[in-house]
Parts: sequence; C-alpha cells; structure tokens
Amino acid sequence: MSPLSSSGSPGSRTQELIAAAEAHSAHTYHPLPVVVADADGAWMTDVEGRRYLDLLAGYSALNFGHGNRRLIEAAKAQLGRVTLTSRAFYHDRFAAFCGELAALCGMELVLPMNTGAEAVETAVKTARKWGYRVKGVPWEMAKIVVAADNFHGRTTTVISFSTDRAARADFGPYTPGFEIVPYGDLAAMRSAVTENTVAVLLEPIQGEAGVVVPPQGYLAGVRELTREREVLFVADEIQSGLGRTGRTFACEHEGVVPDMYVLGKALGGGIVPVSAVVSSAEVLGVFRPGEHGSTFGGNPLACAVALEVIAMLRSGEFQERAAGLGAFLHGELAGLTASGAITAVRGRGLWAGLDIAPRHGTGREVAERLMERGVLVKDTHGHTIRIAPPLVISQDDLGWGLDQLRAELTP
Ligand SMILES: *Cc1c(COP(=O)(O)O)cnc(C)c1O
Repeated sequence: MSPLSSSGSPGSRTQELIAAAEAHSAHTYHPLPVVVADADGAWMTDVEGRRYLDLLAGYSALNFGHGNRRLIEAAKAQLGRVTLTSRAFYHDRFAAFCGELAALCGMELVLPMNTGAEAVETAVKTARKWGYRVKGVPWEMAKIVVAADNFHGRTTTVISFSTDRAARADFGPYTPGFEIVPYGDLAAMRSAVTENTVAVLLEPIQGEAGVVVPPQGYLAGVRELTREREVLFVADEIQSGLGRTGRTFACEHEGVVPDMYVLGKALGGGIVPVSAVVSSAEVLGVFRPGEHGSTFGGNPLACAVALEVIAMLRSGEFQERAAGLGAFLHGELAGLTASGAITAVRGRGLWAGLDIAPRHGTGREVAERLMERGVLVKDTHGHTIRIAPPLVISQDDLGWGLDQLRAELTP
C-alpha cells in the first residue's frame, strides 16, 4: 500500500527525462517532477520504480482507473478488427455507441467528437444554428450566456469566454456572442438572458475553478428560466459527469435534465479521446451533411471503448462507489477542516477541492511534498488542491492517501 520508496529527491533518470522533455516541448504545463512509466488501478509507478497513489485520475479521464481490464480487453478486441473508417462510411460499432449513449443520457441524438473542447465548440455551433433555425433569432445576433471562472477548454472560441487571464491574454481577437455572469447567481443569469439568447452553457460543478458547487437550487432555477425563455440549457459534464459525483450526471443532484449534455474525459476510458454532444432530435436534428464533422469522431476504436464505459455505467456500480467513497472522503476532510489545516472544502461524491491554510504553503508546494510521500494531486488557483481519485480506488488506499495529507498538514 505504501510506496516502495519515498526518498524525496528525484533520481537521475527522472532529472534526465524532465530536462529532455522541457528542452523539446512547448511549456504549456508545469508538471510535478515525476516521470510515470507504468500504472495500474489507482497506482502509478515512475521510472525509478517509486509508486504513487493517483488522486487526480487525469482530471476525471481515468474514472475507471489505469489499465482497467474490461476497457483494455474491449480496446484490444477492436484493435484486431478495424480502428478507423472516417465518417465517409458506416462501421459496425457506430449504431450501438450512439444508441446506447443517447439512452444513458435519456436523449435522442449523439454527435461524436474527440476532445472536450471540440465537443464544447460543437455545442456552441449547435445552439447557434438551433437559435437561427428553430427559435428564430435574427442572423448574427445569437448570444450564449456562460459563467465566470468557467473552464470549457482551450480553443480560440472557448477561451473567448474564459475569465482566466492566462488562458486569454495574448490570444485575441476573440469570438463574439458570449455574455459572462457570476456563477451561482440566478438573478444575474435572469437579467443576462434576452430574446436573442440561444443557450446557457454551464458546468454543474466548476472543476478547474476549485470544485465549486453552486448554491442549492441554482441548477433547477436555471432549468426553469431557460425553459420559460426558450433557451437551451447546455450542461458541460465533461469533468463532473459519468459517475464522479455519485450519479451518472452532476445535474441529477438537483433533479435537472438539461437540453444538451457535453461529455468527454471518462467517456474514453482513459484510453482514447472520446467526446460527444447528446441532445434531442429537435436540437441536434438541425445539422445537415457538411455542416460539422471530425475525421476521428466516432471511430470504431473510440466507439468500442466508449460502449464498454457506457455498459459499466449502466450497472450503477461506479456511481455507488463514488457516493460511498465520497462520503468517506468528505468525512475525513471535515476532520482536517476542524483542525484548521484546511480553510474550506467543496465537492460532491468522490471529488473535492480543498483550500489549504496559507501557513502550509501554496497548493503547489503541498502537492510537491505529497508527491514525496507517494501521493499525486494537482493544485489550482494558489491555495487549492483538487482530489479526484479513480472511482476504482479501494477505501484503504484512499484512507492511506488522506493519512499522508493529514501528516503533511499537521505540525
Ligand atoms: C477538461 C474539460 C474540458 C476540455 O476537455 P479537453 O479534452 O481537454 O479539450 C471542457 N470542459 C470541462 C468542464 C473540462 O473539465
């Protein structure tokens, strides 16, 4: 259970590989100084043979853990048959993938893409076209309302409605047509919606912002408002969805069904990028051939892996695990909050954002020290640490990881 070795300083192999990586890659990330060579379940092993408990799970892309047997088998079986056709032809996994994903979402149509940002772009195009063709918004006037501190990806259009300075600063000119309101503020949302609003695009829980859960009633309020005003409610469940919060979708915690789900990350089982927009026939039915597409979107390998993901989610087993382990996680964190080491905890299910008391250093410093103890987490926004273990983690391992955090934050 504990790492094979927890000696602090990175070995020479690690240093060599990091130097080479930094020499030959654009510096768009600031990774922790660990070089992973192997992984299984909730554990990763680095090039020196040191083991680490993964409490990040690829920002929820690894909900089913590293090397999940069922998913690896599904991928292997498909690798031996056909991996790519392009959408110029049908392939024999496509119908099942679209049908079963739609059913999981309680929707009718699926538009498959690859990455999360592409799916968000797809949602934006869908909402605009629906606005012009169905709602009757005058040409070029479509508006989409989004929340401050959102994270929806990194493309030019998506960063156009980001409030993160680093994400936006040097990348203008920006795509127009977006209105930003404070997250969790229903009154602000109500005043921002006009007759030209085609969609409200929200994360039901804001992951990158530090696992920010909106006030109770907010999502239901947005649902009511959007229904009244003939506006699409688009839920970006790329990080919050597919079991993470103890339900298939985070929207379910408020009994809310949006008009469109935007999915990604865990849909690809940690093996291949798979994303999708899922909605009604009225909404996704607006597209005609040639208006949108992707060479790799909905490819046979992606469909085979995602089909297995969907089958696993249908059993409810992973949602239950997330709920049970989540109760344990939040119980343990409440203890740390009481001790004053943590100034705030947010989250739902097996997902938490903790604000570390400043006397313990920045989130980055705490993440580096936890790494030395064999636990991998990711900091965000100065003093916040995000915990999102694979849903397959055992309670003992999670407990051990939290013991390391406790030890780190106890004088
Ligand atoms: C990760 C994420 C995205 C972007 O997904 P990529 O696959 O990195 O493009 C969009 N929205 C949310 C909520 C995310 O967490």
